[in-house]
Amino acid sequence: MRTTGAEAARSLLAAVLAAAGVVSTGQRALAAPARAPSGTLTLAVTVDDLPATPASDLAEMRRITKGVLAAFKKHRVEAVGFVNESKLEPESERRQRVALLRQWVEAGHELGNHTYSHADLQTMPLAAYEREVMRGEEETRRLQAERGHGVRFFRHPYTHTGPTLETRTAFEAFLVAHGYAVAPFSIEGSDYAFDLLRRQALERRDPAGVARLRAAYVEHTLAVTEFMETLARDTFGRAVPQILLVHASGTNAEALDDLLARLSARGYRFVPLDEALADEAWSTPDRYVGPNGPSWLHRFQLAKGRPMQIELEPDPPKWVLDEYKAAQEKRP
Ligand SMILES: [Zn+2]
Repeated sequence: MRTTGAEAARSLLAAVLAAAGVVSTGQRALAAPARAPSGTLTLAVTVDDLPATPASDLAEMRRITKGVLAAFKKHRVEAVGFVNESKLEPESERRQRVALLRQWVEAGHELGNHTYSHADLQTMPLAAYEREVMRGEEETRRLQAERGHGVRFFRHPYTHTGPTLETRTAFEAFLVAHGYAVAPFSIEGSDYAFDLLRRQALERRDPAGVARLRAAYVEHTLAVTEFMETLARDTFGRAVPQILLVHASGTNAEALDDLLARLSARGYRFVPLDEALADEAWSTPDRYVGPNGPSWLHRFQLAKGRPMQIELEPDPPKWVLDEYKAAQEKRP
């Protein structure tokens, strides 16, 4: 969403960011990297679209699972992975695909619900969407129970939390009644765009292109991280635990090791999602209603009586946006 009357609205946050050196008037420029003492910042990692996306090729799904879980083990990350149980089809491969999810729980990660088929609350009637939630927890609940746990977290696909206040309120009451908490996020690096371009680069046998996309993805996610650190300080007067959203994709299977290393070098210690959410900043009301799925740090502006300023968040590089747009136009 682009704020209307943007020039006037760029007031407070823009001034703060400019003073911090994060943006200069009329253009974005990164400040010199702010390095916190090691382990003083915390970040929870959440992964969407499990067992893997795209879910068309079992061998590739296995490679993705292996790469993502290896990066988590190396960097001591305890993640929450959000499952679309439709990706356990076809029936002939169900056992092997469930085995991928079991690797997550056996490695100490938690599984959450991301609806059965990646349904969109923006367009689907509420009753149908609630059926998606119930149908989407069957295998996940069995796997969590194998470790003595329930299913605690729900993440809305597209982080679309409801088209109207009535729908939002009714659905959140449904979640509470079924023992779910909403899993918010603060940082995401448009990995789906990089991943689509990566698959095209693989198809045209362009390893240099794959490497360039991977590096650009990591740099962009770090730029978003820096922006969200500034936004958190502006909103709460201090650092708050960050929550990273990534997808179980080929891009992350290859890039997470580097990304997590860079976040560690920035001063981050990786914590479980429930530990991040225990910080009172995350109890700030989310009053956002609308067609987009913005970071909760943008949404918290509304609770503070300020306009959201999504247009100040760094975009991926222009060449990535241009290629992504062209790639989407080519798709059937
Ligand atoms: Zn998703």
